[in-house]
Amino acid sequence: MDRQQEFVLRSVQDEEIRFIQLWFTDVLGVLKSVTIAPAELESAFAEGVGFDGSAVEGLARVFEADMIARPDAQTFQVLAGPETGLARMFCDIVTPDGSPARGDSRQVLRRMVARALDAGLTFYTHPEVEFYLFDEAAYREGRLVPVDHAGYFEHTITRLGTDVRREVVSRLEAMGILVEYAHHEGGPGQHEIDLRYADALTTADNLMTFQTIVKEVAAENGVIATFMPKPMIDAPGSGMHTHLSLFEADRNAFFDPAGEYQLSLTGRRFIAGLLRHAPEITALTCQHVNSYKRLWGGGEAPSYICWGHNNRSALVRVPLAKPDKAQSARVEYRALDPSANPYLAFAALLAAGLAGIEGEYDLEEGAEDDVWRLSDAERRALGIDALPASLHRAVEHLEASELMASTLGEDAFDFVIRNKHQEWQDYRAQITPFELDRFLPGS
Ligand code: GLU
Ligand code: MG
Ligand code: MG
Repeated sequence: MDRQQEFVLRSVQDEEIRFIQLWFTDVLGVLKSVTIAPAELESAFAEGVGFDGSAVEGLARVFEADMIARPDAQTFQVLAGPETGLARMFCDIVTPDGSPARGDSRQVLRRMVARALDAGLTFYTHPEVEFYLFDEAAYREGRLVPVDHAGYFEHTITRLGTDVRREVVSRLEAMGILVEYAHHEGGPGQHEIDLRYADALTTADNLMTFQTIVKEVAAENGVIATFMPKPMIDAPGSGMHTHLSLFEADRNAFFDPAGEYQLSLTGRRFIAGLLRHAPEITALTCQHVNSYKRLWGGGEAPSYICWGHNNRSALVRVPLAKPDKAQSARVEYRALDPSANPYLAFAALLAAGLAGIEGEYDLEEGAEDDVWRLSDAERRALGIDALPASLHRAVEHLEASELMASTLGEDAFDFVIRNKHQEWQDYRAQITPFELDRFLPGS
């Protein structure tokens, strides 16, 4: 047993932990959990906990079903909430011979992060998570009623939305997950909580914890929290803009005081990589049929592949780093939405950016116009392409991507593609209220 594992055993005693949840995710980013008693902890560290991998989406084929969850002692945290004595650890999934399970998305990210580290680069992410809160009782009656009618940054007093937000933030902080901002977003009942930047694996773990806590606090308050990208036609969607940066030891590799927008050549190439590979990674950053309603539904979601400084219509935005804060140099990728599997989405973003650095891609000039207002011809003249318009198109781009095949590894890649084709098939078989309204009376 290593030091960290001994520390966990001691903490379990000191904190009077009764149940330890072992967490991992399937390939779609859905959280899975198995609970063990403290007495089982030593053997869980030594041997892991076995389960049927074929019952978890994308983890194993039926003929290689036995899988083992190995708790990562570094991720031990006591869970904050009304119930005490609960803790959790994230797990890596391995096969019975000890090799990494090829469909384990946490290890896809771990592998990608290690590749960057080989080049001396540490990848940091800082997500801005938007979500809606709806009244639960109304939802059960088939109505979608937001918990408030406030707008962007509006200060709401003792309204349910604010209470939920405040409670979420205090539970996160009790668990050592730091929050940078929390505010009301543009839609009624829409809120945003920004997690402080951390290395990408920690951030992805934090996002799994975050979503769980938001849903729990909401449920305790008779509210439904949703990370669905576009729940309402006439209100903005929920994005998960993510700020990305690379550090070489403790130096921000994106910062150059002499560069345009204080962006270094490495930063420019990273952006060029994000832009060139954007169509290929969109099925991962925006993984559901509904994600494309957000991307193409206005409300400040990006639809076109371009970058700009402080340009909110661009896919990639470069906020200005303060001259005395070189460390804050970063780029914001705005397509991501909160229904993504963060492990796969972060791995895809890192792979695209690194491809730009390694391939020394040139960065075209930034777009300072509002690209939504330009005509198609004007956008064409500027060389601005569109993001995929549907999951179907996005999966076609993914399927043709060698970069994503090698980033995800054969198993996760095949599984995602099959699953997304199926989602598209299921979706396009639907006869929607829109069609009935529009075509039935006339036909
Ligand atoms: N809700 C918008 C989106 O879906 C973003 C609004 C903002 O700029 O924060 O991306
Ligand atoms: Mg926002
Ligand atoms: Mg933003």
